[in-house]
Amino acid sequence: MTAIRRRALINVDYTYDFVAVDGALTCGQPGQAIEGRMAELTREFIENQELVVFAIDLHKQGDTLHPETKLFPPHNIEGTAGRRLYGALDGVYQTYKDKDNVYWMDKTRYSAFVGTDLELVLRARGITELHLVGVCTDICVLHTAVDAYNKGFELAIHADAVASFDPEGHAWALQHFKGTLGAAVLQQKEEEQR
Ligand code: ZN
Repeated sequence: MTAIRRRALINVDYTYDFVAVDGALTCGQPGQAIEGRMAELTREFIENQELVVFAIDLHKQGDTLHPETKLFPPHNIEGTAGRRLYGALDGVYQTYKDKDNVYWMDKTRYSAFVGTDLELVLRARGITELHLVGVCTDICVLHTAVDAYNKGFELAIHADAVASFDPEGHAWALQHFKGTLGAAVLQQKEEEQR
């Protein structure tokens, strides 16, 4: 019997604070440029009855103990508009959020696996292959990919649905996914691109 490959889409941090022009910790234009592809891939996985995890950074107002407090301005604060999904992706989420295969998960650190039940959720569904999209390529997407690799998941990174404020970091991370984590780095075919 051959093992069935079960996929899940892990949708990382595509919120107003990380993407919008006036977001608190924005990736800027590269983040805004992947809006359409983020929404399209997310809808595709959901309609295909595959699991979609929204792994979304959560901070509490005035938390002085979180390690990011020393590094970044406040962002993705619980209950604020900055923590809403950005643009078209929010529309997709609002449409499908009550479906069984849509899972919203508060993320505590860069990696979606740290301090969350993500691994249990994936293992319970027999998922072996993770597709990653979101921001930033070289921070939260990278740390999530590294943990997924160490836990034995197959990885696919959608190069046209990840972005960073740092072009060099973005390019380095794409290379690292492929060369070091053995990930498939995917992109829509040339002719399908605008
Ligand atoms: Zn954060």
